[in-house]
Amino acid sequence: MNRVSREGPVLRVGRSDSDRYDRMRRVEWIDMDAVHSARILVAGAGALGNEVVKNLILAGFRMIDVADMDDIVVSNLSRCLFFRDRDVKKVMKSDVVAERASEMDPDARISSIPRRIQDIDYWNYDIALGCLDNIAARMHLNSHTYFRDIPYIDGATDGFRGKVHVVLPGGPCLQCTMNRTHVREAEKRFTCTGSSSVYVPRMAADITTTAVIAAMQVREALKIASGRVDMCLKHIAYYNGENCEMFTAEASVDPECVNHLLREGTQWGSR
Ligand SMILES: [Zn+2]
Repeated sequence: MNRVSREGPVLRVGRSDSDRYDRMRRVEWIDMDAVHSARILVAGAGALGNEVVKNLILAGFRMIDVADMDDIVVSNLSRCLFFRDRDVKKVMKSDVVAERASEMDPDARISSIPRRIQDIDYWNYDIALGCLDNIAARMHLNSHTYFRDIPYIDGATDGFRGKVHVVLPGGPCLQCTMNRTHVREAEKRFTCTGSSSVYVPRMAADITTTAVIAAMQVREALKIASGRVDMCLKHIAYYNGENCEMFTAEASVDPECVNHLLREGTQWGSR
């Protein structure tokens, strides 16, 4: 808004303030055109999914599909900015996130995929962000994106602790880092809430940790979309909100990992 004195306007709104992404363009490595056109899959529309989609839209991503097969329950409302009390048990999470996030940017195209991640056509995407609550779903997303050379940014939270894992084509994937505990957990199909529950672990969660992890995921997506994978996290970041510590750990490719064996054994032309 202009300030006006008796002598007339003393401060004019410049073109920089009429450009929605002016402040982001001032970051020299961000390629806003590439960000606008990047095709993004967000798997999971719970707490992390809500925060990730909010950040994606504000950061200028405009081609977003949101996948989730659950509906909304009351316990979602403390961590999901797109959900309202009137939504409980009436609408699908992905439908609500897609509809309300669309209001944030009229130029964005946000679609809902209210289906299992096993039913997604992965060929449609440039980047996938995992906002899932179980290991089996993570492994599925990891395998299908790795096989197609789609960068995958996995986010996870447990109370005040969180983790982000960036999987780039040819690099160590989620399965490379699995141990026996992970394998046992992967055999369970569980979810925090929702009608599809088979096993409900009642995991601790809070919005502050969710917000940190979601922001880190979208920041890595900005780097990938802008062609700066050299700046990406290598490979896992661990966050502890109780003592405000964070550290990163490099993973290595497991030569026995089935995803690498499949990818390396497949001719490009047959994918
Ligand atoms: Zn692997």
